Amino acid sequence: MDFSSKLLENAVHEMSQLPGIGKRTALRLVLHLLKQPNGQTMRLASALEDLRNSVKFCSQCHNISDVEICEICANPKRDESLVCVVEDIRDVMAIENTGQFNGRYHVLGGKISPMEGVGPQELTITSLVNKAKEGRIKELIFALSSTMEGDTTNFYIYKQLEGLQVKTSTIARGISVGDELEYADEVTLGRSILNRIPFENSLKTN
Ligand SMILES: [Zn+2]
Repeated sequence: MDFSSKLLENAVHEMSQLPGIGKRTALRLVLHLLKQPNGQTMRLASALEDLRNSVKFCSQCHNISDVEICEICANPKRDESLVCVVEDIRDVMAIENTGQFNGRYHVLGGKISPMEGVGPQELTITSLVNKAKEGRIKELIFALSSTMEGDTTNFYIYKQLEGLQVKTSTIARGISVGDELEYADEVTLGRSILNRIPFENSLKTN
């Protein structure tokens, strides 16, 4: 792509670093921003800057939060001993929308993926296992998408918990294999949490 402006080229380059945004889409978005009132673009820029500078992760569940302990973890009505293991905040939002879960979450920050260079150390697995070792968890519900990476991650965590008094279960798969949780409708997802099955059983069927 030949640009008549270095400024434009830089903006398009940065925009095209976003997932799913190619150079052409990046150019369209940048030109759109240029057409908007100045204030609008500045608000976008400063919202991103504020997010980057001020975002925190809950010290308990590692979810994105504005404060040290997120609302869910700070709520005494939520059952601390029932923990749902999810990949990221989108899954928390999807499960919260079902209104069917009264436990807490543990946000891993991704899935184990050797292909993408994501090992267990890149995720918050140690913190999860420590919570289990401290006896704070009675039941762990695996709610990762059932892709190969999701299954690998579940199994890795399951192995880490061996010998501990922690019941493990996995959400029932009304959700078809490979589907991401965020796309499941609320009723299906809610039901799959209520009808969760022991993790060992999910291993036998695979
Ligand atoms: Zn939290």
